[in-house]
Amino acid sequence: MDIMAWMDIALQKAEESLKAGEVPVGCLFIYNNEIIATGNNTVNETFNATRHAEINCIDQVLKFCKEKRVDYEIVFRNLDVIVTVEPCIMCMSALLQLQIRSIVYGCANDRFGGCVSVLEVSKFYDSKIVIQGNIKGEEAMKLLQDFYKGVNPNAPESKIKKGRKIKETLLTDDK
Ligand SMILES: [Zn+2]
Repeated sequence: MDIMAWMDIALQKAEESLKAGEVPVGCLFIYNNEIIATGNNTVNETFNATRHAEINCIDQVLKFCKEKRVDYEIVFRNLDVIVTVEPCIMCMSALLQLQIRSIVYGCANDRFGGCVSVLEVSKFYDSKIVIQGNIKGEEAMKLLQDFYKGVNPNAPESKIKKGRKIKETLLTDDK
């Protein structure tokens, strides 16, 4: 499978996240041309601000290694990460400490991005990591925009409109 096809699967994970009321980020960890972990954010579900898609995938890889009785160091060092949004500084640090091989991401993360947008975390590591951005970035960004606009695909349309009306009224009252 090629990068575009991987990214489509990651985008599907991000969409699932949006439906679950989480920040829509989808992530795949590829080893030997096979998906060994898929993740999305579970920050709201777990009340844990560190449960980003990448961190959830790391846990799955460790479980995979234990079950298959393979050395996790070897797996991480040959791991390719596909993620719909540029990993944040926390996740970049974690991925670099595990010495993963490459990252392909969709849209930039202007607020927390740890590849290039806010901080180039790889500079702090002796790393040969290969990073490629802006792969289907527009689709990834659209999901984020929907989330921050408060578009919940599970909610009936009338409910969304009602919510907006209430907001508008409150704003008018303030004036
Ligand atoms: Zn993160």
